[in-house]
Amino acid sequence: MATSSSTQSRTDLRVDLERIKTDVLELAEIGRDEEDRGIYRMAFTDADMEGKRWLEQRIRAADLATHQDGAANVSGVLEGSEDLPRILVGSHIDTVPCAGALDGALGVVVGLECLRRIREAAMVPQRTLELIAFSDEEGRFGGMFGSQAVAGKITPKTLATRSDLDGVALESAMRHHGYEPMDALDAARDPASIAAYLELHIEQGPVLDRMHQSVGIVDEITGLFKWSASLRGEANHAGTTPMQMRNDAFMGLADFAHEVPRILEENGSDRSRATIGRAQILPGAANTVPGLVEFSLDVRDTSEAVLEELSTAFRKALSAIARRRKLMFEFELQSYIKPVRCSESVVEQFLEQARRLQLEFQQMPSGAAHDAQIMASIVPIGMLFVPSKNGQSHSPAEWTAWSDIEAGANLLLQALLTLEATPGELG
Ligand SMILES: [Zn+2]
Repeated sequence: MATSSSTQSRTDLRVDLERIKTDVLELAEIGRDEEDRGIYRMAFTDADMEGKRWLEQRIRAADLATHQDGAANVSGVLEGSEDLPRILVGSHIDTVPCAGALDGALGVVVGLECLRRIREAAMVPQRTLELIAFSDEEGRFGGMFGSQAVAGKITPKTLATRSDLDGVALESAMRHHGYEPMDALDAARDPASIAAYLELHIEQGPVLDRMHQSVGIVDEITGLFKWSASLRGEANHAGTTPMQMRNDAFMGLADFAHEVPRILEENGSDRSRATIGRAQILPGAANTVPGLVEFSLDVRDTSEAVLEELSTAFRKALSAIARRRKLMFEFELQSYIKPVRCSESVVEQFLEQARRLQLEFQQMPSGAAHDAQIMASIVPIGMLFVPSKNGQSHSPAEWTAWSDIEAGANLLLQALLTLEATPGELG
């Protein structure tokens, strides 16, 4: 039970796990398909709207103020006593199709619990604390819509051109639910009004689960480059063309694939990842020597310099293989996303509180993009991960032990309490 504010010090304040459980499980029923047990709460669907209404009701029940901005981001606000830049804490409640209960939703529920706990302990923060649930993080209309709107990255053109896979325009989906699309432009915030953005999220990878750690303290979010590449040889008869007279494009790709671990070892860091996720052999007949392979290369690291070095090494390898196998090679840069560093003072605070709370924790990079990455373009950010059982995510099998959720939530709460009382900028 919560003790009265007079006897409870800030450093002893803890989340109420039962309330987090209730909220997670209630929210998971919204958009749930009874057959496959997956959650279908994609952005600007009826289920998403129901989720937003549920959240607003939970915020009001916690005696916090609630409002939505023009991008349909839902906020819950605990007013601070001073006129200082506020701290935002949140994530998203929209989902991919057939989702699990925790991706995004956990960060929102835990953020709410932190504010609720501070409110009911009758502690008045100096800085205003704001819970925010961002719209369309998962990408029905391209993804990160809500955080991009807050970061001032949405333009009339973005609004006019985004549509989902069925061709439904973002603008018409918004209007259908009573939103005026152009209002999304008004969701942009003055960066000076925000001290930091904090987000707790499930890891969506296997690291914490394998290492038996309760919490991951994210220090960097990986950047990436994506190539679309090809090796061109000559298509020929599989029976009549002797082995030494072939220009087999696939053999070139096989050589290249073999070089990947060496290149990462020599030119990468322990945070580097490289993936050939798509490959097409042409003409694609069993009795024809492949004349062309088209493939993708996705390379990630937390350092821009390392990404640069990897890019050069991959290009050299491809060129050497092409020469050796008498092939032509081409590649095109499809996308480049800069790595992002989390705020040093926030990371420090997370580390300090994690030690004080005696949690099993680990400092780690984030290999996935989140709203925090968008928010990092305007304000200092901090991210916490909790383990994903077997690394599973974007499926009904997605799960995290309640004890780990409690650990992560208490860490977020304690860091929030310290940061809100920290004067000056949180760089
Ligand atoms: Zn997410």
